[in-house]
Amino acid sequence: MIHKIAICAGHYPVKPGLQANGFSEHDEAVKVTKHLEKMLAKDGYEVRVTGGKLTDKVASINNFQSEIAIDIHFNGHEDDRVGGIETLHSGFLKSLRLAKCVQKRLVERLNRLNRDTKIGFYQGDPKRGLLYFLAHTHCPAIVTEGLFLSNAEEAMMLETENTHILYATAIAEGINDYFIESLRRSIKETATN
Ligand SMILES: [Zn+2]
Repeated sequence: MIHKIAICAGHYPVKPGLQANGFSEHDEAVKVTKHLEKMLAKDGYEVRVTGGKLTDKVASINNFQSEIAIDIHFNGHEDDRVGGIETLHSGFLKSLRLAKCVQKRLVERLNRLNRDTKIGFYQGDPKRGLLYFLAHTHCPAIVTEGLFLSNAEEAMMLETENTHILYATAIAEGINDYFIESLRRSIKETATN
């Protein structure tokens, strides 16, 4: 079975997200997405890269009937000492499992502080509800927040293209782990039924 995967770079050219330390969030995320698209195609997945406004991205993902969806971002904080990696999920089991698989690989590959997986609320506030991307995709979805652009040390890592390659490699590995784990679970369930 060929798995369908949708990926997108966070934000879009009109509203490119965080600008810090000379880096633009959207532009850096696009670089990661391009590497990831190639890696996933090579691994035999059917990949759709979506772009434009968030509503358009989500509509395209749902239209594609993707099995999983990943939105690639960089993080920011008013305190420029804050850094590390986190992965946001919807709180539903499959989204959480996918987030855990990808987070583990991101921390291994990028070798920065593990800020763990979290439910992705709008502006981190539970009262404001889930992020649109997590709430409206019809499949398990996650938002990766690899590295803080507001942290000079982490932002400087993006001067070398290898960092984008490592970010993409980690996501590809996390996706493979997720599907292997899903397969193991379904075999176990069949055996116990
Ligand atoms: Zn963002």
